[in-house]
Amino acid sequence: MGKPGDGFAIAMADFDMSRPAVAALALGISAGAVSYALDYAMDRITFGKPLVKHQAIQFMLADASTMIEAGRGLMLRAAIAHDAGNPNTKLASMAKCFCSDAAMKITTDMVQILGGYGYIRDYPLERMFRDAKLTQIFEGTNQIQRMIIGRELIRQGKTTSK
Ligand SMILES: Cc1cc2nc3c(=O)[nH]c(=O)nc-3n(C[C@H](O)[C@H](O)[C@H](O)COP(=O)(O)OP(=O)(O)OC[C@H]3O[C@@H](n4cnc5c(N)ncnc54)[C@H](O)[C@@H]3O)c2cc1C
Repeated sequence: MGKPGDGFAIAMADFDMSRPAVAALALGISAGAVSYALDYAMDRITFGKPLVKHQAIQFMLADASTMIEAGRGLMLRAAIAHDAGNPNTKLASMAKCFCSDAAMKITTDMVQILGGYGYIRDYPLERMFRDAKLTQIFEGTNQIQRMIIGRELIRQGKTTSK
């Protein structure tokens, strides 16, 4: 529990562990959304060919997959730094912010691939889209993450110039 007066610092240190976990959650939602939309796009025929054969659809899937891989690298760096006992506050905020913003972009695009079916509750994309939004809000909103990253950049800049 710590001593009286230590609570805020303990709570803040906990975020260094939980924010990479939210990044992993966001990546899981994103990967699930891409997997579902890809399967759907293989089966759905428009203008004489499967949806996935249209370049505009492929580009959305390509961008989503690239963002997932980039986010995974960031999330793992933040988690590994924490496990090693190294300072990871900036990386943890970057991972949480990047992966959750990516999840929002990715689920928006995957809803688009399903068209009208993406919007209704009979299909899982609607839930994934809503869940992605939460990852931008809890464990500190992404506005707060950007404030933390900015503060850490200033702090590290000062340290470097000394
Ligand atoms: C499903 C769910 C589960 C949750 N689980 C937990 C939990 O387990 N534990 C817990 O403690 N909390 C939990 N929360 C609460 C969550 O952490 C807060 O909703 C979140 O921190 C935002 O706080 P707020 O809702 O009071 O919004 P506000 O603080 O009113 O902020 C509203 C908006 O203004 C922005 N904003 C506020 N201040 C600034 C500023 N200075 N500069 C720029 N932008 C700013 C915010 O980023 C946000 O976009 C949960 C929320 C949800 C929806």
